[in-house]
Amino acid sequence: MVIQRHKGLVEDVYEAIFNKLMALDIAPGARITVDGLVRELEVSQTPIREALGRLEGEGLVVKTHLVGYSAAPQITRRHFDELYELRLLLEPEGARRAALSMNKERLGRLTETAGLMWKLSGSKERLGYSGFARLDADFHDQIMEIAGNELIRETLTHLHTHFHIFRLMYHARVTEEALSEHESLLVALSGGDELGAERAMREHIERSRQRLLIAFE
Ligand SMILES: [Zn+2]
Repeated sequence: MVIQRHKGLVEDVYEAIFNKLMALDIAPGARITVDGLVRELEVSQTPIREALGRLEGEGLVVKTHLVGYSAAPQITRRHFDELYELRLLLEPEGARRAALSMNKERLGRLTETAGLMWKLSGSKERLGYSGFARLDADFHDQIMEIAGNELIRETLTHLHTHFHIFRLMYHARVTEEALSEHESLLVALSGGDELGAERAMREHIERSRQRLLIAFE
């Protein structure tokens, strides 16, 4: 079972580097050397290169010809504005549609994800923080999955919004507000309330934007 062991190792290495990026232990824009990670994580180059390739696909790492890897720079104000503009066009409508296609199983999964976020929000650990970002991405992705337009869902996935914004607000830690907004959204979704779900999603995204703006001041 060498392959599986290798797979597990890549997963561990990936998680370790992911956490460092999300917690800004590797600063945005900073160079990442494979040799440095070999020494630090005490593994060979192969799993590190694999993990970095995956992180590159997630937009957290950039590979430059002849230079090598570096952490993706922090998003610019312009990119931030565009990102939120696009989210506001797509996600409230997605939430409205999801309210129409809700069922017990889907609601169960969403509620579970929201519950896990409450649990993590209590922990002060950095691991909790990167896990929180991933769960938030998952929560929003589930709603778009239920909404049913795969192209819109993929478009949002490729923006890697949650990884970018969580790096942006690492120092602010305004997470609990977002969780009660998720609750309002869940209430509307579970009641099949189209307009309520649309409104709750719009409010959640607008408030999230507001919370993050301080990062540019
Ligand atoms: Zn959210």
